[in-house]
Amino acid sequence: MEKQALLSDTGPHDHYGSTSPESLPASTAAAFPEAPPDEEWASAPPVDMLDDVVGYEGIAAGGEGSYVLPPINIAEGVPKYEPSPQKAWSIPTVTEDMAREAFIQFASSVCCYSTRPAKEMVFQDLRAYNTYRYRLESFTESRSTEWKMVPYKGQFVDSNAYGIAPLPWDIIVERPPMFQNDIRKVPVPHTSSVKGCSECMALGAKACIKCTATGRVKCFGCNGRGYQLSDDACIRCNGTGLQRCGMCCGRGSKPCQRCKGRGQLMLFIQLTVKWQNNIVEGIADRQSGLPLEIYSKITGQNIYTDQQPRVYPIVAFPDHQVNQASQKAIREHEAQLLRTSNIIQQRQTVEFIPITQVRYKWKEEEYVYFTCGSENRVYAPDYPAKCCCCSIL
Ligand SMILES: [Zn+2]
Ligand SMILES: [Zn+2]
Ligand SMILES: [Zn+2]
Repeated sequence: MEKQALLSDTGPHDHYGSTSPESLPASTAAAFPEAPPDEEWASAPPVDMLDDVVGYEGIAAGGEGSYVLPPINIAEGVPKYEPSPQKAWSIPTVTEDMAREAFIQFASSVCCYSTRPAKEMVFQDLRAYNTYRYRLESFTESRSTEWKMVPYKGQFVDSNAYGIAPLPWDIIVERPPMFQNDIRKVPVPHTSSVKGCSECMALGAKACIKCTATGRVKCFGCNGRGYQLSDDACIRCNGTGLQRCGMCCGRGSKPCQRCKGRGQLMLFIQLTVKWQNNIVEGIADRQSGLPLEIYSKITGQNIYTDQQPRVYPIVAFPDHQVNQASQKAIREHEAQLLRTSNIIQQRQTVEFIPITQVRYKWKEEEYVYFTCGSENRVYAPDYPAKCCCCSIL
């Protein structure tokens, strides 16, 4: 899911993690009320059955249909960048008492730890490695279309006799709450038509291959001879040498799978609307020595939220790594997401993550631990009096 990485403005490597739209979970919505009833086995029709529909020329016959970019007027209808007022930042602090208290609580909460070192330790040094987590969420909508077909069972056919098919981005589809992944499939109005099934020549059935449509196969008992070894007539087939074909139950034909025996198919263009929350985040690097994966377990304290159709990069945050992360994330999301979708809303947040490194002595040995996050959780990989089972947070 979300990759977490250090923000770094010095190193040659790109530490900034991002998520590709494909890697995010998309929940499948309940069936849309207007979806055709047989939608669950709607499949792609053969290309030679497709009509030309104005505005839908050359769309994919099947598979995850082709993305349709929003028309210029929608893409440009986005309000221009508005720098939001970036007030004075209030940054919380962590004291020595808080760090010691957290450590004693930690030592007594872990079953096999002795609290002795925690109580007897001598503080050497307390260093703040407080940092920030920047997160950008871009909520996008993408639209794709593809041809579908279902067996025709006499249902209503919304054909072009009822009007001209609206263009993909003109179809009104109810949007889920902001930042919530969802997917909806609807038939494009006025694109349905009924065609004879090409698989069975509109007969609804196909000749049985096993009995070559005769309904009879060689008798299994006498291998088609009609008599047994004793020269008596075969009792299984009464001497005819033939028995009923098991494949088609003697009918000589089988119902066509494509049209489910109906002989006719209803073709239509299906619109798939996908909403996706794309997240990119990163932690400002403090070179604290705390393993990277620990950061993802730490809860920070939200100190800034900005939500708009398009957010403006943070420019005046006291830590310039956050400003850079904001600029980079916004630029990246635009380059990445606008290729296939429309950004509906963006939200950027900054979390303060208190981290204190404590150096202490116990029995003349020196040790280090960290208190992390809003809950003051402790990370003490080299705690001196542990036994077996636990070391992390
Ligand atoms: Zn027989
Ligand atoms: Zn048969
Ligand atoms: Zn058929």
